[in-house]
Amino acid sequence: MHLSDLFSNIKLNEPMKNHTSFKVGGNADIFIEPENVRELTEFIRYAKDNNIPYYIIGNGTNLLVSDYGISGAVIKLGEKISSIQVVEDRIIAQCGAKLPEVAKVAMANSLSGLEFASGIPGSIGGAVAMNAGAYGHEMKDVIETVEVLDGNLEYKVVQNKEMEFGYRKSAVWKNNYIVLGSTFKLKKGSKSEIVSLMDNYTKERQSKQPLDMPSAGSVFKRPEGYYTGKLIEDAGLRGMSIGGAQVSEKHCGFIVNKGGATARDIYNLIKHIQKTIYERFGVELETEVKLIGKFE
Ligand SMILES: Cc1cc2nc3c(=O)[nH]c(=O)nc-3n(C[C@H](O)[C@H](O)[C@H](O)COP(=O)(O)OP(=O)(O)OC[C@H]3O[C@@H](n4cnc5c(N)ncnc54)[C@H](O)[C@@H]3O)c2cc1C
Repeated sequence: MHLSDLFSNIKLNEPMKNHTSFKVGGNADIFIEPENVRELTEFIRYAKDNNIPYYIIGNGTNLLVSDYGISGAVIKLGEKISSIQVVEDRIIAQCGAKLPEVAKVAMANSLSGLEFASGIPGSIGGAVAMNAGAYGHEMKDVIETVEVLDGNLEYKVVQNKEMEFGYRKSAVWKNNYIVLGSTFKLKKGSKSEIVSLMDNYTKERQSKQPLDMPSAGSVFKRPEGYYTGKLIEDAGLRGMSIGGAQVSEKHCGFIVNKGGATARDIYNLIKHIQKTIYERFGVELETEVKLIGKFE
């Protein structure tokens, strides 16, 4: 029996460059976008029974996938599992819903708290896992509970404080959680104020970030006491290229694919930046972007 007889939306040798915002990455042996949580659970059971490693992705906006691809399965939690519900001052969103969409629903219902997230291009699953944030706010400020499947595929509702949110991190990796959705507790506000705050954030992003080029946002975490972009700029690396990968001219914290970049180009540029910043300033830059597959 073929895998495609058992599961819907399954593809073999699927190019990951089609599923990442960097637009790079080799093939995933198996690529599945489950129809619903039942199919997700069944596929993972199948993968475990057959010793197939699997990797969960959302919108692929924080990923660098190797040119050699991914051996095993990639499970994309996207549009199929993406409902958004409003109940009074709460929004209940499934993992595949996109953060800007959820922020828009909040705005349409005069609910304040998610304005900061309107320009973060991830899914709810990815944003909860990463504790995405901007402009002094983070997902953890508005998350009430998170629905997950744990490592034994048991469904759980996890309270905010049990998620161990920190700067771009959460208990997702440690506890092997798959985020199925999240409930956000927001505040009733003035729609015009919400709209105006979102507009300001959008203008700020448009003026400072290279939104017209493929990237994964800020490549590195902010080291305490420094601004990554400034360190990179002060080291004279603005605009530096390796192959098709370039330190953005517009925002030195971003690496952009200026056309034809390989994952190796991006990886080599990351290593070069880390080495230079360490040599010049003694600061270790840690990647915020998640690297998947073989690079060394
Ligand atoms: C132009 C641009 C601007 C950006 N601006 C910001 C910003 O202001 N602030 C910010 O924090 N980030 C920013 N990002 C980065 C990125 O959008 C966020 O990290 C986002 O939260 C990632 O979500 P995703 O769905 O794309 O996750 P992916 O990139 O698909 O995955 C990221 C990680 O989350 C895990 N994951 C994804 N879904 C699930 C799930 N359902 N359950 C368990 N684990 C899961 C993956 O395994 C992976 O480890 C930006 C990116 C771009 C391209």
